[in-house]
Amino acid sequence: MIRKLLSLFGSTILLSTMATAAGAQDMMDEDARWSIAIHGGAGTINRDKITPEQDQAIRAALSEALEAGSKVLKDGGSAMDAITATIIILENDPHFNAGKGAVFTWDKTNELDSSIMDGSDLSAGAVAGINGTKNPILLARAVKDNSPHVMLSGEGANQFSREQGLEQVTPDYYATPYRLKQIEDLLARKVSAADVDYKFGTVGAVAMDKDGHMAAGTSTGGMTGKRWGRIGDSPVIGAGTYADDRSCAISATGSGEYFIRLGVAHEICARIRMRWPIAIAEAQLAVPKDEEGNYTYAVHASEFMLSDEEIQQIADDVIAELGELGGDGGIIYATPWGQAGYSFNTPGMYRGRATSNGEMAVAIYGDEE
Ligand code: ASP
Repeated sequence: MIRKLLSLFGSTILLSTMATAAGAQDMMDEDARWSIAIHGGAGTINRDKITPEQDQAIRAALSEALEAGSKVLKDGGSAMDAITATIIILENDPHFNAGKGAVFTWDKTNELDSSIMDGSDLSAGAVAGINGTKNPILLARAVKDNSPHVMLSGEGANQFSREQGLEQVTPDYYATPYRLKQIEDLLARKVSAADVDYKFGTVGAVAMDKDGHMAAGTSTGGMTGKRWGRIGDSPVIGAGTYADDRSCAISATGSGEYFIRLGVAHEICARIRMRWPIAIAEAQLAVPKDEEGNYTYAVHASEFMLSDEEIQQIADDVIAELGELGGDGGIIYATPWGQAGYSFNTPGMYRGRATSNGEMAVAIYGDEE
């Protein structure tokens, strides 16, 4: 951990500046660092529920997506471009509940949700209950980049997609035999979306690029058998997705209603952002004073980072609160200090992470890594 103490500025500056953490990244590392974490959904993912073939296919898909995002970052590309490239691969893969392979609604249609956020300026875009667009993450990004809005829904969002010239598909594009079987089973059993565990496969990515900028994105078909225009957390900025250069980037997956109620993605970022000045203040208290009682150094944010353990604890605390409410699922995180990781309260989560330190791993079950 780097906690050099220099007499540069008063520590009160720290609370008021944006993108200070990005600056910190530049100052702390000669070789600019990058990191990325991805997920492909969380849930009751046990070894006895997954065949060796499925296991292999999921790991291959996660690896391909992770490598694509890592390459963008390694080559000096932006976090926004890295997560977009990653999510497109996962949306195109029928193993995941996003884009092709999205779950069916009660009416046997597909209504897709997606969102994206740029931590460098807090700009964001989201779409809810859409269809017709091949890659919903590109539509969320178009909302962010090319509209004055943050969130579009339904037919209006579909129209915006066509006007933006995004690749369109017919409704049957999303369907897979596996997802059809799930909705038919749900309808035959006359149970509701909340009663079945069929939702796994939401995808997401978070990253920090070499400039220290953060980005997060999430894409999903939602819950099997959802009705009445139900929208989960994935397209809700602050619930399923959040990115802020001052703290972290988060993408969530799980029982969306609970993630919305707790504002999980923003909650984790806010706790990191608040923990940071507290940690700086604690470091300042440890600085020796001169004969006149003044500190010999003023601790500054650019000299500071939260440890791996501190970040993990904050993420775990919020997921524990989610569990206390009755929610299940997990999140992936990336921080301005180069950490990339996960926290989840389900038996498994399809996940992966890579950093400029050479770490690259994908995992499925809770006992891995
Ligand atoms: N969070 C998504 C939703 O509630 C589902 C999932 O992540 O599996 O729509």
